[in-house]
Amino acid sequence: MYDVVVIGGGPAGYVSAIRCAQLGLSVACIESMKDDAGNSKLGGTCLNVGCIPSKALLDSSQRFYEANNDLNKHGINLGEVELDISAMMTRKNKVVSQLTAGVSGLFKANKVVSIQGHGKLLSGKRVEVTNNDSTDVIEAKNIILASGSKPIEIDSAKFNEDTIVDSTGALEFSDVPKKLGIIGAGVIGLELGSVWSRLGSEVYMLEALPEFLPMVDKKIAKDIFKEFSKQGLNIKLGCMVTSAKSLKNCVEVEYEENGSTQNEVFDKLIVCVGRIPNTSELISDDSDIQLDDKGFVEVDEFCQTNESGVWAIGDLVRGPMLAHKGSEEGIMVAERIAGKKTVVNYNLVPSVIYTHPEVAWVGKNEEELKAEKVDYKTGSFPFAASGRALATDESVGSVKVLADKKTDTILGIHIFGPSAAELVQQGLIAMEFGSSSEDIGLTMFSHPTVSEALHEAALAANGHAIHIGNRKK
Ligand code: FAD
Ligand code: NAD
Repeated sequence: MYDVVVIGGGPAGYVSAIRCAQLGLSVACIESMKDDAGNSKLGGTCLNVGCIPSKALLDSSQRFYEANNDLNKHGINLGEVELDISAMMTRKNKVVSQLTAGVSGLFKANKVVSIQGHGKLLSGKRVEVTNNDSTDVIEAKNIILASGSKPIEIDSAKFNEDTIVDSTGALEFSDVPKKLGIIGAGVIGLELGSVWSRLGSEVYMLEALPEFLPMVDKKIAKDIFKEFSKQGLNIKLGCMVTSAKSLKNCVEVEYEENGSTQNEVFDKLIVCVGRIPNTSELISDDSDIQLDDKGFVEVDEFCQTNESGVWAIGDLVRGPMLAHKGSEEGIMVAERIAGKKTVVNYNLVPSVIYTHPEVAWVGKNEEELKAEKVDYKTGSFPFAASGRALATDESVGSVKVLADKKTDTILGIHIFGPSAAELVQQGLIAMEFGSSSEDIGLTMFSHPTVSEALHEAALAANGHAIHIGNRKK
């Protein structure tokens, strides 16, 4: 009998398994994906078909775009720039293999037992493992469910693995689609839309909601819309796709926009309208584990299910579907199994959209603070006033700091601009320590850095930013 069995080897499950092993627990991790040799392919959605391959393509496509469009501004003329999409995909696949092999190496080093197969929770803390050849039942004192999520499929545009694809298919195109349709202008739509737009696709995004990026600060969302439209993404809001008909090598999409029916023919259509938890075939009928109405496993704030010793983490449970959120839950659960009192601070989960420029935020936005009737103040600083941002030709966007009006405690940080993902992390560390905007204002920042925009936004919250003209005190 193991101390812990983890079902799922994604960033929630594999991190949890490693932490369990570090704490001296005997642990096995069951993963259904397998490599060519028949061993578990670890890393989950994130490493194999999510965070990592998308960022590899975002980086490659940005370089291609800059070589074609921006380098001449710096006095560098390359002549005609050629795209080798197959080499780009090979590089992406190599990064993925390197990282997934790295997780296998970490399992060996930490003595985590890796079991290849499909795991199903039976009653009495037993797990059935099925692979091609056999079915086995293993027992554990604790079971951690970490089977992640999969793309939502909609009736009006069913995946066909060719012209109508999910995010995984969109990371594998062998040619640049001339005209690319995307259903859903969320995080995946914007990231993958950016990739293919930079490589030459004419991109149309059909979003059901009338509002663009409702989870983002309203003013910043407006700036993002303007910038991405300028970059060539045709973002259509308030559009309901009614049908997607596969024709020869293309797909005809019909959608409703402002009460009228529209038609577009695309070479490829990406459907990215959210993801659902992987609970099918995960839990046997005689288990009492409860799911909510959307299929997520119900857990408390410590990721404990309604059955003692059965835990669930990552995309399988409530909260944002983010790799770092799942990993932190995995660590919390491992440590709680080992008797520690670890908690996850769900108020400070950072979000990032890895476009160019990046979008990043943490904490509350103005709408949330207004709804909660919190008296707050704001400080903003545009990258157009940052020396470093101008020197690197990255001066689009701004930083906004929200702080409590009375105590000055930082409540939220919202960034659209260069290195936003890294900048928000600086603010998040300050927030984790309960800092005020004055604390950031009193901190010395290297010059010239784009981080100075965070410094100035914090100063602006108290009316004394130096490099913008609205000083109050
Ligand atoms: P998963 O990563 O989905 O892992 C679950 C694992 O369990 C899988 O390997 C699956 O094969 C296995 N499994 C499922 N059922 C069983 C079973 N019954 N038995 C055995 N094994 C099973 N998040 C970020 O934070 N940053 C990003 O930049 C980012 N980019 C993304 C880009 C894309 C295109 C996509 C699709 C997602 C992205 N995400 C990103 C989201 C991120 O990938 C997920 O939040 C994260 O992978 C969830 O981790 P997880 O371990 O809960 O589940
Ligand atoms: P999402 O929730 O970010 O966006 C889906 C969008 O599709 C929404 O704007 C929604 O209004 C729209 N939509 C829903 N149904 C629709 C319909 N029928 N027609 C048109 N539009 C419709 O989901 P996603 O982009 O699929 O991403 C899935 C998950 O993966 C997200 O939770 C995200 O957190 C995670 N992810 C994270 C990152 C990152 O951290 N950078 C990157 C990619 C994915």
